[in-house]
Amino acid sequence: MKPYMYYKGLQKLATELRGNENIYLGIRPYGFHSGNMLPFVIYPYLLCAELKKLGKTPKFNFYIFLNDWEQDKLDGPNPITYPYNVYPANTTFQYVYVKNGSKTNIVDKWEPVIVKGVKTITSYFKQTKVLAVRNSHMKRNKFMKRYLLETLKNPDEIASILRERTKRTVLEDPLSYVLAVCPKCLLVRGQTTLLSNNKIVHICKSCDMITKGEYEDFDYWFYHKPLAIPRLEAYRIDLCITGGDHFTEGDFHTRQDLIRLFNAKIKPFKVLYTPVVLGYNNERMGKSKKNDVAISFQELLKIVKKNIGSDTIEIYEKP
Ligand SMILES: [Zn+2]
Repeated sequence: MKPYMYYKGLQKLATELRGNENIYLGIRPYGFHSGNMLPFVIYPYLLCAELKKLGKTPKFNFYIFLNDWEQDKLDGPNPITYPYNVYPANTTFQYVYVKNGSKTNIVDKWEPVIVKGVKTITSYFKQTKVLAVRNSHMKRNKFMKRYLLETLKNPDEIASILRERTKRTVLEDPLSYVLAVCPKCLLVRGQTTLLSNNKIVHICKSCDMITKGEYEDFDYWFYHKPLAIPRLEAYRIDLCITGGDHFTEGDFHTRQDLIRLFNAKIKPFKVLYTPVVLGYNNERMGKSKKNDVAISFQELLKIVKKNIGSDTIEIYEKP
């Protein structure tokens, strides 16, 4: 299996696809800027256009995986130096509300914006479909349960894969890739353990509550790398489209290793990497980096076409 890189990869992919594949798009649902739009809208649009040029009809299913089990903010010994010894600062997006004392959940606010953005593809290619899936909606899916429990059971094995594939230092402690949300205070600050009878014990460091229960009794924070495995299997994914920064991080091989570790029966899938969008200060665009810019589909498409073949796209805020 080989990665498909940027526009050249897209062109090669178009010759190999039938047009009816299931496509994986994953996002932290708390914004939608140009850096997100490249893998979510522009590259899918260009892929459909390329298929059409070859006489095929795009009928793709685009699955938008909204990670509402993602941390609101990272904490750990030093999330920049040790990006794999991290945990949520407070809680997950499932329990985060829009600022100003509003009762609107942050995912409820952003899901329609993201879906509307991706549906731009459908307005050009009428037979494509866009479907949004939250982790919380997948909680009762058997693959989600299986791989979440496997992740909870094997943090050391996951750490060794990350150590080998990303070439980053991974400390022995703290090491967790799944944590429960405390049912009492709704924070993710504590210790979650899987017992031999598959029951879960969570000790909350914030309110001191000790909860014992079944998998179904909790909500979770689930680190995004192992989280990809249940999504791939449950939705029979054929192709993932994602930012080129994930390739640089070693995600391509990490994912293969995790599949082997979990002994997951996943059908072969391809990965298309899109150019990295750079914002202010030539840094990768991101909401957490505070250099995010949102421009229209047409405007962004024009910039991407002008830079076709390049592995980075620069977009700055207009003065
Ligand atoms: Zn608590």
